[in-house]
Amino acid sequence: MNKALDAVITRWIQDHREEFISDLMGLVAIPSVKEEPVPDCPYGEPVGRALSYMLSLCEKAGLTTLDIDGRCAEATREGGETIVGVLTHLDIVPAGDGWTRNPWGELSGERMYGRGVIDNKGPAVASLYALRALIAAGAPVANSLRLIFGGDEEFGMDDIRYYLTKRPAPDYAFSPDARFPVIHAEKGIASGEFYADITAPTAITSLSGGTRPNVVPAAAQASLRELAIGHLSAAVEQRTHIMLVVENGEILVRSEGLSAHASTPHKGRNAAVQLIEYLADTLPEGDGALPLMRALADGSRMATDGSGLSIACRDAVSGALTFNLGKIALEGKRLTLTYDIRHPVTIDFDETLKKMERTLGALGFTMAPASPRAGLYLPASHPLVATLTRVYTQCTGRRSRPVAIGGGTYARTLPRAVAFGPIFPGQPENAHMADEYARVGDLLAAARIFAHAMLELGNLQPPSSNG
Ligand SMILES: [Zn+2]
Repeated sequence: MNKALDAVITRWIQDHREEFISDLMGLVAIPSVKEEPVPDCPYGEPVGRALSYMLSLCEKAGLTTLDIDGRCAEATREGGETIVGVLTHLDIVPAGDGWTRNPWGELSGERMYGRGVIDNKGPAVASLYALRALIAAGAPVANSLRLIFGGDEEFGMDDIRYYLTKRPAPDYAFSPDARFPVIHAEKGIASGEFYADITAPTAITSLSGGTRPNVVPAAAQASLRELAIGHLSAAVEQRTHIMLVVENGEILVRSEGLSAHASTPHKGRNAAVQLIEYLADTLPEGDGALPLMRALADGSRMATDGSGLSIACRDAVSGALTFNLGKIALEGKRLTLTYDIRHPVTIDFDETLKKMERTLGALGFTMAPASPRAGLYLPASHPLVATLTRVYTQCTGRRSRPVAIGGGTYARTLPRAVAFGPIFPGQPENAHMADEYARVGDLLAAARIFAHAMLELGNLQPPSSNG
């Protein structure tokens, strides 16, 4: 690293702390949650306002700006043909309940609170300040440096799909919408349904559990007809995490689990799976639902490593497959189960889904066609990954290696992109939570790292000439 240049960049960023805070507060004040389209704002007026606000900051900085039909925005420091991109997004999830701070921006000491402060408005403004610092320092950069701001990351990622129909993809890009160090592998993701009909009479009158495919269900419940009560109370003891309540001549079975993200399902306790196992053990012989419950319970069918469905696998880069049963529902005669799979990035995903379909078929279930999203993988030796790894190590003094994750980040919307920042190792993640916050000093530290990343990538050859 050029120490003299680093000193200028670091000083410039520190000197602009107050301006940074004020720019970010202005952006956080805009409640840019996706809404119904209005003219020129396909994601709603507030998202459009956030994009124009950011573009006006970029214009003031002397960058070439472009509004991409109200879906995205970009700001470029013109250079050579090779384009280096920094991808962030300006849309947010709703503030939600439980805030003790102002969700539209509140500064308290080092901490700035507000929806989007860390996800992803803080990093977006930090990427602008990184570029401004680089320009102010007179750093020599050969390539074009482009900030790309999306308007639809939280609900659909439709923004960058559209962007790529209008604009060239950057040759190298990073997206500070996750954490440090470089994330060079993201598992493939598929979610979908499988189902079967209960054709013979059953004691079950209702059955439901879970809210979303990518969350381990914290609760599931079933109601059983009175005729089953005698059998149940005689044959079954209460179990941990299962509660029985008799109500209006029905028996209500409540299963209590522990929620977790589908990329780490083993950290949770699946209430839907508990309920299935309970029903498989306790429904009377001859009940119409019993064969399906047994098929789902026996042999740990719903195990989080996929072994029960004969799809367990792992690779050295991204680790083991994870399986999550995210939802269960009985509607009429149809029992529908919703799953989420995170798949090792170097293994054939379609082959795994075919195996799963065969296993489920043999158990009497039909699997709806899945549309897997491919993973993201660039080897550690790839110039983008190697450069960002080096920059992170030089800026922080911490040796680091690129990491693999089970989640899907914004980076996978672009080719030749990886997630990089903004959360440092060991720091809590509070995106999407009440009292979301970021420490100003951390955002500025990230800005310094982004500046060096742009500088180094800004002097790389295009991908074709160095493999
Ligand atoms: Zn985000």
